[in-house]
Order: sequence, then C-alpha cells, then structure tokens
Amino acid sequence: MFIYLHVPFCLSRCVYCDFYVVLDKYGGHEAYVDAVCREIDLRFASINPLDFPQGIQTLYVGGGTPSLLDSAAYRRIFQKLNQYLPFASDAEITLEANPGAQRSEMADHPEAYWACGFNRISVGVQTLNNAELKKLSRLHAAEEAETFIQGLQAAGWRNISLDLMYGIPLQTEASWQETLRRAIALNVQHISMYGLKVEENTPLETLTTLPMAKGSYPLPEEEAIVAMYFSGLSTLAQAGFRRYEFSNLAQPGFESRHNLNYWNNGDFLALGVAAHGYWQGQRYETISDIKQYLNNPLAGTVQDCPPAEQLENAIIFGLRKAEGIDIAALEQTFGIDFRQRYADILDRYTGTALILNGHQLRLKESAIPLSNTLLAEFLGDA
Ligand code: SF4
Repeated sequence: MFIYLHVPFCLSRCVYCDFYVVLDKYGGHEAYVDAVCREIDLRFASINPLDFPQGIQTLYVGGGTPSLLDSAAYRRIFQKLNQYLPFASDAEITLEANPGAQRSEMADHPEAYWACGFNRISVGVQTLNNAELKKLSRLHAAEEAETFIQGLQAAGWRNISLDLMYGIPLQTEASWQETLRRAIALNVQHISMYGLKVEENTPLETLTTLPMAKGSYPLPEEEAIVAMYFSGLSTLAQAGFRRYEFSNLAQPGFESRHNLNYWNNGDFLALGVAAHGYWQGQRYETISDIKQYLNNPLAGTVQDCPPAEQLENAIIFGLRKAEGIDIAALEQTFGIDFRQRYADILDRYTGTALILNGHQLRLKESAIPLSNTLLAEFLGDA
C-alpha cells in the first residue's frame, strides 16, 4: 500500500504558493494529529489487510511544512497505521522539510525523525541564490539550506532529495548553474527541478503583472526557461544523476518509489486535510478547511474514475517517466489494441516526439517542453 499524508502547517505563505496552508502561529498540531488518527481508523474500517500482503510500501508526508510537527507526532501516526498494516521492512518513508523552520525539533534534532522511522527526506531548497530566495519570499538563506543539509548528513540521513526551481524572477543561466553547482557539492541522492509556475490568485501573479517601473519581478523569457531546463538536465547528468521523470533525477537506486507509483497510475491512500487520493477506481479529495477536517476527517469529495479515464491517466502519467509506458501491459489491463486506437497519434509523432521500441513507448527528451500539447492528444480518444 502507498500512502500520502498532508500536513498543512507553514511558518508563512510564499508568494507563489497556491496550496492549502495553515499558518503555524495558530498552533493546533495535537488536534491535527488526533484527526489524522481518527481518519486512519475510519478509512481502514473498510480495508482488509490481507489484500495488502506487502504492508505499507511507501509513506510520503508532504505539505505544507511537515517538519514543523515534532517526531512524537509522527510516532503516534506510525503506531496508528501499524495497528492496521505493518510497514514493509524496506518501506520508503519520506518527510518533506524546509530549511527555514527554525522553531522546529527538525532544526535542532534531525536525528529524532530518522529514529522514529523516516528514511528519506525531501528539502525545499528552491535556489541557492539569496536574491532569488527573497523574490520567492522563502524564509531561509542559501547558506542556511546548505548548513541544514550538512546537519542532516551528520545526523545519519542517507537518502536526501532537494527541490530546486528554475524560471525564478531575476534568475539567469549563470545563477541557475551556480545553484546546481552548489547543490551537487552537497552530495545528495535525488534532485527534483521544477519550473516556477505563476498560479492564479497568488501574490506572485500580481507582482509579475505590475508595470516594471513599480515592481521588480521580471520573469526570465520562455526561451531562457526552456534552456535552463535542458542545461539543468545536462549538468546533473554529468554529476551522475539520471532523469527518470520529466522533473526528477536520482543517483542510481535512489528513485522515489512513492512518486513512481503516481506515474504508474497506482492506487494510493491520501490522509490529512486537502489531500488527494486515488483508491480503487475513485479519486477523492479531503476538504480544504482545517476546522471542517477536524470535525469530520472524511469530509470532502469523491469522484468515480471510469476505465476510459484510468487509461488516459495511465498514458499521460506514464509518459512522464523516462522509460515511458509498456503498451502490452496497458493492452492487457484495459483490453484494447493500443496501436490501432492511437494510430493517428503514433503516425504523427513517432520519430519526432515519441519513440516506439517494441512495446515500450516513450517521449523524446527534446519534446518534453511541448508535452502538454502532445499528451492532451491522448485525452478523449480513450
Ligand atoms: S513552504 Fe511550501 S507549502 Fe509552505 S507556503 Fe511556501 S511553497 Fe507553500
């Protein structure tokens, strides 16, 4: 079983963020953990553990800033999960952390989280350039991020992932390469590199649309952003990182099993406020309102995901992986003739944007910037 747990607390809201966030100054950690434990009771009431002989294979705690909860909170949650299903002996248990969370146990005792069961940590570094961090309104400085990661390593963490961002206001190819150079020097095992998206109704949207005379949030040109993506891939490849998904690169053996399950369109149970799950043919979303969640942790919406949509998802998520999709496996699962159903798309794109090798279909790396248009071609045909 694959499980995602959402922890919504953050010290402040970053200008570009459109996630559901609860400001930490309002407290409420204990009540939240109580509600998560209740949710586990309720969801597992209809789950037969015998259907999951491998136990809990991955748990990913994302946010928010999950490292604001102390390790005792996670001990409680792990014990509660263990009441229903044991963790597999090789379970991947990931915690997201931010270097700026100075008031947390994470800052002083990162080993406590390791000791309570986490074995992978994903750190929201974003950039190692202080002017760019300011533009993102992140609370940490680049040097603090480096010290934080070195502290994790000293405390015994051996599977560390960094989130980096390109396309940040003021960012140049030179500053991006400098961030990558410093990130590589940290000897981490995994790097996710995301293009900054200007989401609707965020302060960043307002700031980036202000006249230049008033604001100073010039985003890099689209061409420069695409160039940063490819130069990032190439710099990281030279340092031994293999791209296994559009935005994710790992040293061999450190690919995220939890995220691979998403791209394999596998089921996962989602817990916590504002969490999105995919479970036995249904997509569900818990309510994005902490008060309502505390009252009823099952509040939210559930939507059927019919087989046609499952097929579309399997193709669209699967083509994000460097290895692509196994057509034969999809044909068996969905009872279709893939080559016939998608003959038109295959005719138009094979060789230019798609590579078909036996029954393995994948996207060319050079076509990734155009992937939104290309992948949308698979929608509605299923
Ligand atoms: S730390 Fe992450 S989740 Fe929290 S406000 Fe910033 S971007 Fe959003």
